[in-house]
Amino acid sequence: MKEILIKQKSYLAPLYFPDATRGVVKSLDSTDLCQAGVEGVVVNSLHLADNPGLEILDQIGGIKNMMNYHGIVTSDSGGWQVFSLIHRNGNKGKITDEGVIFTIGTTRKQVFTPKQSITTQMCIGSDIVICLDDFTPPDAPQRIIRETVDRTILWAKQCKKTYQEECDSRNLSEGEKPLLLAVVQGGYSKEERKRCSEELINIGFDAYGFGGYAIKEETGLDLEISQYIADNLPKESIKFALGFGKPHDIVTLRKFGWDIFDCTLPTRDARHQRLYVFNNNQVDQDVLNDKKTFGFLDIGKSIYKTDQSPIDQYCDCHTCKNFSRAYLHHLFKIKDNTALRLAAIHNVRHFTRVTDLLK
Ligand SMILES: [Zn+2]
Repeated sequence: MKEILIKQKSYLAPLYFPDATRGVVKSLDSTDLCQAGVEGVVVNSLHLADNPGLEILDQIGGIKNMMNYHGIVTSDSGGWQVFSLIHRNGNKGKITDEGVIFTIGTTRKQVFTPKQSITTQMCIGSDIVICLDDFTPPDAPQRIIRETVDRTILWAKQCKKTYQEECDSRNLSEGEKPLLLAVVQGGYSKEERKRCSEELINIGFDAYGFGGYAIKEETGLDLEISQYIADNLPKESIKFALGFGKPHDIVTLRKFGWDIFDCTLPTRDARHQRLYVFNNNQVDQDVLNDKKTFGFLDIGKSIYKTDQSPIDQYCDCHTCKNFSRAYLHHLFKIKDNTALRLAAIHNVRHFTRVTDLLK
C-alpha cells in the first residue's frame, strides 16, 4: 500500500483522474464524480486561462471553489496544447530556451514561458502543478532527443523557482502548498530518460511524470520503457503516468510503480455509446491481469432494446443501480442528454473500480 499526501490529505495509490479540461468532466458535476469514487481530475490551464480567465478564478478562489469539487485538481502545464498548435500550423511557431513562441492569427506573436505556466496554474488553485516540459517526438533523432531533455531540465529549474516565489508571495504554509511535478522526457532513448530523471531528482520535485509517448504499434504500451522510467525514479516518489489510463494499462503500469493515471476515454467512449464491462463475473486482482477481463458493450446495438439487466451487474454506480440497458439504449436512440450523463457515470466508475481493486 502506498499513501500519497497532498495538502495534508492522504490518498491510497493508485488513483485515476478523468479529464475536466474546461473545469468540467463532460456531462458530470462534482457530486456525480464523488459518487463515482473519483478522487481527482485534470484541468487544462490554457483553456481555463482563456475562459473563465485568471482574474475571475483568482477572485472566486480558484477552480475548486468554482466547481465545488473537493478532490485533487491537477493542472497541465499548457505545453501540450501550445505544441499541438504549432504542429498543426506548420511554421507558425518555434520552441526556444526562453519558451514557446507562437503566432495567433496572422501577426500576433505570443511567448509562453515556464514562468507563465506556473503562475497560471497557481491562479487556478491546483493541488498538483506541472512544470512546462519540451515534448520529445517519438521519431526524433538523437540530437533532438538530447535538445528536448536539456530544455525540459532548464525549464524545470525555472518552474521550481517561480513555484517557490509564488508560494512565498501567497504565504502558503507547507501543508497548503500544491505538489510540484516535473516531467521525464527522452523518447525511446534509455540513456536520455535516465539523464533526465537524474537531473530532475537533483533539482528535487514532489512528483514525477511520464512524458511523451511510449506506445508500440504491435503491443500498445511499451512495457520496457514504462518500467525503465519508473525504475529510475525514487521508490517512494509520486509517479504520474500522464495521459496513460486504459484499464488494462493501469494494471500493468501499477506493477511498475506508477501511482496516478489520467485518461479522456471514459467520457469520450460514453459519447460513442461504448460502455466498459468486466467479462468475468467475479473480479479480483488476479483476474485483472488478464487482458480478456476487459470488454465493451455497444449499447446502441438492437440486442439491448429489451434487455432489463444493468450495464454491469456487479457495478455499484448510480446508473447500474437504477437503470437498465434497455433504458440506456432508448435514451441514446432518442438522443437525450441523460444518456451521456448515465453512460459517463458508469464508465468513470468502471475506471475507479479498477484502481480501487489495485489499492
Ligand atoms: Zn455502473
